[in-house]
Amino acid sequence: MIKEIILSTKKVYFIEGDGIGPEVWGAARPVIDAALEKAYGGEKTIEWTELLAGEKAYAETGEYLPQVTLDTLAKAELAIKGPLQTPVGKGIRSLNVTLRQVFDLYACIRPIRYFEGIESPVKRPDLVDIVVFRENTEDVYAGIEWSSASPEAKRVIDFLVDEMGAKIDPTAGVGIKPITPAGSKRLVRRAIDYAIDQNRESVTLVHKGNIMKFTEGGFRQWGYDLAEEEYAGKVVKEGEDAAGKVVINDRIADAMFQELLMRPEQYSVVATTNLNGDYLSDALAAQVGGLGLAPGVNMGDKLAIYEATHGTAPTIAGKDLANPGSILLSGAMLLENNGMGEAAVLIKNAVEKALAAKKVTVDLAGQISGAEQVGCKAFGEIILANL
Ligand code: NAD
Repeated sequence: MIKEIILSTKKVYFIEGDGIGPEVWGAARPVIDAALEKAYGGEKTIEWTELLAGEKAYAETGEYLPQVTLDTLAKAELAIKGPLQTPVGKGIRSLNVTLRQVFDLYACIRPIRYFEGIESPVKRPDLVDIVVFRENTEDVYAGIEWSSASPEAKRVIDFLVDEMGAKIDPTAGVGIKPITPAGSKRLVRRAIDYAIDQNRESVTLVHKGNIMKFTEGGFRQWGYDLAEEEYAGKVVKEGEDAAGKVVINDRIADAMFQELLMRPEQYSVVATTNLNGDYLSDALAAQVGGLGLAPGVNMGDKLAIYEATHGTAPTIAGKDLANPGSILLSGAMLLENNGMGEAAVLIKNAVEKALAAKKVTVDLAGQISGAEQVGCKAFGEIILANL
């Protein structure tokens, strides 16, 4: 019988980004294409289309985030981006934050694991294999705040003192921390779905609900409510018989920092609010040897934008020094989440082999004893040769 060949192509938009963005993307993309070719011999491919944003967009169109980029992303499912510089100037908001808000990319997902050979500040970094789901749209990051002594802060403080009976110093800067049942539940839903799909043992709700009862404590409660309402028979609470089911538990954020340092092997998937997630994911990335190899994605219900987790690194931009690992592994994550897992495994294995060969970019050379420093492009080529 003749084997029927099913060809599939995924359309993926890419934004090179600013600073080191074009270099790291230029080194990473050939590796992704070669991994697809090796895994599927042309049966599964990606159709890449560039979208402009940041400095490159400004140079060509006079806008940092052109309408055509926004219109295209509004209809898209998959994109990958390099870092975007926050333009210096009055009234221009971070492009990254704008993209998250415009497309309601409410889940920031960062898998954190150890790569053999990298020096880490802890004894057993290899015990870390944790995926952080960070809520991306609410919390003190919602941008609802007023500076000390401004008329707006004064109005809010007057209201809180006069009408709500609150005690606040009149000179305080004031910020609002909105956390909703719906916002919490959609994030926790993603984390539980992921844990079930990937056979992960547990989902830990991380919060500071002992102090902030109605926001952080709300997040915890709504997470448990969701587990009960939608995942009966599939998840259990800590202490119940877990056979084949995902355990849902919770930890207070400060205790969780200790736990992740001392017993990381007991944690698998973490679901948390925006600020906690920001701190926790960077701390975990540092625990396994830094941000250079940390991938990430910002996801909504329709669109997912995979991205390098580092910034534009202006001091090394254009010098062929940057590490393309973060955007490359974000690309691998995109493949894994879209039915191209075999190619993703090839990439991850090739990164491991390249690290073992000790020919790495400057940031990693400082963390691997006896390593030889190579450029961004060369590091990409070494990874490609190890596919
Ligand atoms: P950064 O991540 O650019 O740099 C921090 C340090 O890490 C620097 O020493 C830099 O040289 C180094 N570094 C970062 N990525 C590296 C890589 N791939 N290889 C080797 N070394 C690397 O952070 P920053 O300096 O705070 O920010 C610079 C700019 O990036 C700012 O405009 C900021 O707004 C933007 N930024 C964007 C994103 C994003 O697009 N998601 C994230 C963070 C910062």
